[in-house]
Parts: sequence; structure tokens; C-alpha cells
Amino acid sequence: MTDFVLPPPPCPVLPVAGGGLFPVRRVYCIGRNYAAHAIEMGHDPDREPPFFFQKNPDNLDASGTFRYPPRSQDVHHEVELLVALKSGGTDIPVERALDHVWGYAICLDMTRRDLQAEAKTLGRPWEIGKAFEGSAPVGPLHPATQTGHPDRSRIELRVNGALRQEGDMAQMIWKVPEMIACLSRYFELRAGDVILSGTPAGVGAVVPGDTMTATIDGLGQLTVRVV
Ligand code: MN
Repeated sequence: MTDFVLPPPPCPVLPVAGGGLFPVRRVYCIGRNYAAHAIEMGHDPDREPPFFFQKNPDNLDASGTFRYPPRSQDVHHEVELLVALKSGGTDIPVERALDHVWGYAICLDMTRRDLQAEAKTLGRPWEIGKAFEGSAPVGPLHPATQTGHPDRSRIELRVNGALRQEGDMAQMIWKVPEMIACLSRYFELRAGDVILSGTPAGVGAVVPGDTMTATIDGLGQLTVRVV
């Protein structure tokens, strides 16, 4: 311990429903995983291979507050299922993928849409639009031993009570086992990795003063105030 030349930063954690902390190693996000959302973003909903980007582990924020970020006039909500892994590996077969899941949570993939759009146009990476401070508000993590593995749950997001996004896990183009299997062909997955599984249609802007309420059947509700 005395060899650190600076105090080591704290390990990012997710609170577990009922107590305890889940240590986070990496955050992977899947893009365009609901056909209706792919269409609204101007893409073909055909089953192209999934693609991934990353957020920073310390972007996860369970405080219930989202601080409107700088340098954007168009910050969007994307409600998503978070999948937390208890183990990993490479080339994980689809049939064994769920064995690696520790639990599930509701998460918001907040996006500086204007900066993301500019990055897309210029062929640049997405971090500036996706991986900013507080960009992943998250609810408590529920152990799969209690929830099972949701595959047909309703997912929705309301802003100030008005329904903005709705869908069902059954509409995901790439299901949770396929996401894990595919990711593990490109990366070595490990305990502590989490995956955001894409958003249903209806993404849109928020402004300070808004209250976002995200619900996934079986995982309760996540309320986040925009300040
Ligand atoms: Mn997303």
C-alpha cells in the first residue's frame, strides 16, 4: 500500500437492494438494440451484429440526482436494463452466458445528443456524448437469485409523469445471453463488469427541474431529478 504515489481512487460501486455493494470494473453499452429506436435514430432495424461503446465505471451514479452536464443543449434520456456480471471469460457460449450474471438494475444512458451527433458526422468516437460525469444514473442492483433472468419485462420512462419511452425486454434485437457471448469474443469479461442493454424508442431531451421515473417490471422504479 505504501507504494502508491497518490491516494488510490475509490472503487466505483452499485448499491444492492437489501444491502451490500457491488464493485464495478467496466461499463459496456450496446447500441440500437430495439428496432423502433434504431428507426427513430435513422438506422435500418435489420439484425446487424450488435455494436458496443463504453462509459466510465465512475459515471454510474446512484444518488437520484442528475446534474445537467456542460457543453450541450440537447441531453437525452435512454432507459436501459443493466446486467451485472459475477464472473466472465472469453468466447462464452450463449447457453452458458446467464451463469455469469449476478443481477440486474435500472439504468439511464444519459446522452449529450448534440455532441454525439457531431461525433458521428465527423467519424469520431462517442465518449464526449456518452461518458461524461454522472451520465449513468442507476437504481439498486437486484440479485438474479431473487429476480430470475427477466426476458419479457415491460420497460418505461416517464418525465414529469408523462410517458416518453416504453418497450418490452422481449423486443430486444440481441438478448442478454447473446450480448454477453458476443462481447466475450472481443473482450475478456470479468466479475464486476456491467452491460447496458440498449434503449426502447422514445428518447428525448430533459431540462433542469425535470423528474425522470424509470420502471422495469420486477426491478422496481428509479426516480432521478435533473438539476
Ligand atoms: Mn443507450
